Amino acid sequence: MITGKNYIGADLSSDSTVSFKTFNPLLNIENKTTFFEASDSEIQKATKLAHDAFRVFKLVSAKQRSEFLIQISEELKSISDDIINIYCSETGLPEGRCKGELGRTINQLLSFATLLKEGSYQEVSIDTPLPERKPMPKPDLRKMLMPIGPVLVFGASNFPLAYSTAGGDTASALAAGCPVILKSHPMHAGTGEVVSSAIIRAAKKTNMPNGVFSNLNSKGIEVGVKLVNNSYVKAVGFTGSLKGGRAIYDLASQRSHPIPVFAEMGSVNPVLIFPKKLQKEYSELAIQYAKSITVGSGQFCTNPGIIISFKSDYFDLFINKLVQEIQEISPSCMLHPNIYNSYNLGLQKIKKNKNVSELTSYSDKYENNFPRHVISRVSAEKFIEDKCLQHEIFGPCSLIITCQDEEEILKVIESLDGQLTGTILAQDHDTFLSQQIIDTFELKVGRIIFNGVPTGVEVCSSMTHGGPYPASTDSRFTAVGINSIKRWLRPVSYQDFPQSLLPDELKNDNPLNINRIIDGVVTREGDSHFENT
Ligand code: NAP
Repeated sequence: MITGKNYIGADLSSDSTVSFKTFNPLLNIENKTTFFEASDSEIQKATKLAHDAFRVFKLVSAKQRSEFLIQISEELKSISDDIINIYCSETGLPEGRCKGELGRTINQLLSFATLLKEGSYQEVSIDTPLPERKPMPKPDLRKMLMPIGPVLVFGASNFPLAYSTAGGDTASALAAGCPVILKSHPMHAGTGEVVSSAIIRAAKKTNMPNGVFSNLNSKGIEVGVKLVNNSYVKAVGFTGSLKGGRAIYDLASQRSHPIPVFAEMGSVNPVLIFPKKLQKEYSELAIQYAKSITVGSGQFCTNPGIIISFKSDYFDLFINKLVQEIQEISPSCMLHPNIYNSYNLGLQKIKKNKNVSELTSYSDKYENNFPRHVISRVSAEKFIEDKCLQHEIFGPCSLIITCQDEEEILKVIESLDGQLTGTILAQDHDTFLSQQIIDTFELKVGRIIFNGVPTGVEVCSSMTHGGPYPASTDSRFTAVGINSIKRWLRPVSYQDFPQSLLPDELKNDNPLNINRIIDGVVTREGDSHFENT
């Protein structure tokens, strides 16, 4: 049963009188359950519990943390029907999408569980001492990555499972040894509570300290603001709009003790199409891109928001086919009236821009929360002049940019803000496809794709889901894949420590049997390496 309460560690709590309901966008009605926003005292209790739990949790072995993550995945599987019911009623998304996202959530948890057993994520390095070195002896130095402390995770609106309660940010933070305070997304508070109950049960079954996870409800931004400012919080994970992410980043840096914010924000994911590719495949590409722009009603951070090519008859044929295809695809329900309204507002803004022309046209009216699929067009010159045309319009639309020549395409790429992805559609030796274009494009993006679509983010260690600002607040990290654990770790060096006081990872005998870099060489060696030092 969904209670509408907050999880303060393992306890359900509802101090506050501020309440709200979630919304079923498919039926266009409110859902029944009343949710209670976290009060100031609940925020304080949850963060203090996380602070206290951290002292214990950081000492829990990687193997036990791995068992905790596996148990969460088991608990999620055991309540999958409940999750599907509430997920669908709070998002308007179909059951198939829920099952896919739940599968991804479970696989993410399991991939971190595997990583923990293997151990290399801690980047252990040992430099043996040189006591006779002149003029100064070299000390014994041993370094490893340590958990940063309690992490505040903002549930994402567009991924109620995979980037919310037990999603990538939570899984990576728990794997790192950091307790999580989850600021539940108000649009899917029920899904958040059901998933939280699975995490709490897993924590109890695997003897994790109380406070290792809390789930706090919010009606508006205030709870998030208080949490970012809370001194027990040591880092933040966020997925959402540039406006929200930037506000949180600014708040965190204004604290008396600033903390890192890993925000993954808006992106328009530019696509460059080259002439030979177009000539050969304009029709197939148009069909492929109509699907990519409209999948999930365009509510993906990797949605292809701008498509760039050279003025040519084949580009015109591509555009015509794209417009025809996208108009024929039936619209699908957006996540929430607010997202639907903000999509329409974004479209209205570009419609008012006299340099932009809409190519799609519709005679019939659509139902609430079912968006129009829109293709618009602008010249490269006007695109470069107007930074507003680079703002993400979250939904099923794309802007076509026509360039006159290679020089102009370079100028367009140079004018781009940071992006999560950039895509090149070309044949191997396509006209105008130069190393200079690739190098310039690569500077702007976190992932560069050759002949594909940007939608669909593989969860694996080679994935970068991040990019130069404003795609993310720190382009050195990824939000997807096992390397996302690095966001919640900080390096600590131990100098001249006695063996008995070192963490196991740094001891000579390598009791955890993990890979370490000793004097510059990767090895699993233990005592034998140190015999002559
Ligand atoms: P959002 O406005 O960025 O909000 C995300 C979360 O951040 C919410 O939980 C919100 O809290 C919180 N928040 C927002 N502004 C804040 C502030 N100034 N201070 C503290 N917390 C703040 O995104 P959303 O409401 O989930 O979705 C709306 C828009 O975000 C979409 O239309 C789309 O443009 C964009 N979006 C982009 C992506 C992407 O991956 N690029 C993903 C999802 C959404 P409350 O909910 O409690 O108010």
